[in-house]
Amino acid sequence: MNVVLQTLPASLYDVNRVRADFPLLGRKVHGRPLVFLDSAASAQKPVQVIETVKTFYETEYANVHRGAYWLSEQATRRYEGAREKVRAFLNARTAREIIFTRGATESINLVAATWGRATVQAGDEVVLTGLEHHSNIVPWQMLAAEKGIVLKVVPVTEDGRFDWESYETLLSSRTRLVAVAHVSNVLGTILPVQDITAAAHAVGAKVLVDGCQAVPHGVVDVRAIDCDFYVFSGHKLYGPTGIGVLYGREALLRAMPPYQGGGDMIASVSFEGSTWAAPPQKFEAGTPAIAQAVGLAAAIDYVESLGLESIAAHETTVVQYATERLAAIKGVRLLGTAKPKASVISFTLAGVHPHDIATILDREGVAIRAGHHCAQPLMQRFGVSATARASFGLYNTRAEADALADALETVQRIFG
Ligand code: PMP
Repeated sequence: MNVVLQTLPASLYDVNRVRADFPLLGRKVHGRPLVFLDSAASAQKPVQVIETVKTFYETEYANVHRGAYWLSEQATRRYEGAREKVRAFLNARTAREIIFTRGATESINLVAATWGRATVQAGDEVVLTGLEHHSNIVPWQMLAAEKGIVLKVVPVTEDGRFDWESYETLLSSRTRLVAVAHVSNVLGTILPVQDITAAAHAVGAKVLVDGCQAVPHGVVDVRAIDCDFYVFSGHKLYGPTGIGVLYGREALLRAMPPYQGGGDMIASVSFEGSTWAAPPQKFEAGTPAIAQAVGLAAAIDYVESLGLESIAAHETTVVQYATERLAAIKGVRLLGTAKPKASVISFTLAGVHPHDIATILDREGVAIRAGHHCAQPLMQRFGVSATARASFGLYNTRAEADALADALETVQRIFG
C-alpha cells in the first residue's frame, strides 16, 4: 500500500469542503455536533454516492444480463461498468478477475468454500496472523474441521508488527495458503503484503489479502502485491452496504468450482446435469446487488477525485496529532504503535472499561467503538478483553481529534 507517495501540501486538501459532501456529518447527537470516529466499522456516505444510487433507481434500474430491452441493457452497462471501475481501482489485469459479493466476509467464505475445499488435503497448512479479523479466521477453522488441515498463526509483536522471523519459520512445503490482513482493523498496522506474498509463493503457497482497512486509506495494486486473492467491502470505502469484492487471479477462478448454484452462474441446465458460466458469472448466482455496485463505482470515483495519496496524507496528519494528544493523557495505553500504520487508534484507560469510555464520549457527541472488534485472539495477545477504538476517515479533522482527547480527559478526571 503506497501510503503518502506523493504528499500534497495539507493546504490543498480542503477538509471542510470534503465534509460538506457528507450530509450526516452535519447532524447533532445529544445536542452536540457529531464527531464520527468509527469509519473502520463503516464509513459515512458522500452525497455523490447517495445521489448516484437514487438517480439509478429513478432512471436506469432493471435486472441485469437478462432483458433484451433497453433498460436492462443500460442497467447491465452500469453494473459491468462498476466491475471495470473496480478492476482499474485494484489494477487487476481483467474485469473477469473481479467478483461482486456481499462483502469481505462473503469473499473470504467463497474462497474457503470453493478453492479451499477443492485444493486442501489433511495435513496441509494455512498460515494466518494473530491480528486477523474473525472473518479471516473462522472460515479457515471451518475448512480445518472439515478437511483436517492445520492452522498456523504468525505472532504479533508488542508494538503490533507482523513477526517476520516467525513467519519464515512457519512457511513450508505443506503451506497451501497464507491469509493476511493488509491493515489491522484494531492496531492500524500496515503489513508488508508484497514481501509476505513473495515468501509464500517461494514455497508454492497461495496468498489471500484482506484489504478491508487498506482500500479507504491508500493506493492498492494487486499486480504489484502479486497476491492471488484480495477482498474488501464497499461500505468501508464510502459506498453502500451489501456489496463487496473478491479479486482472484483468472487462472485460479477458472479452476475453482462454483460457490452457490442458481440463475446467472450457468452455461446450460438440464436434469441430466448443468455446466457453469466462466468467471465472474460462475460466482455470482442470482440477481446481484445492482444498485449497490453502481454506488460502489461512485464511491471509487469520489475517493479518486480527492486522490488516495492526498487522503492518506491528510489522515496521517490527523492520526499523528490525535495519537500525540491521547498519549499525553494519564492512564492511556495505546495498542499498536508500529509504523507504518493507517487510520486506527486503539487504546485503554486505566481503571475504566472501554464500554464506559464509549458511553461517556457518546454524550459528548463523539462516536467511537468499544469491544473486541471481531479480533478476540488479538485481545488475548494484549491481555485485554476489549479496547476503545477511534478510527479516522477522509472527513475527520484536527478539531475532532481535540474533541476526542478533551472528552477523554474528562473521563480520566472523573475516574482518575
Ligand atoms: N476484515 C477486516 C480487517 C475488517 O475490518 C472487517 C470489518 N470490520 C472485515 C474483514 C469484515 O467486513 P464485512 O463485515 O464488511 O464483511
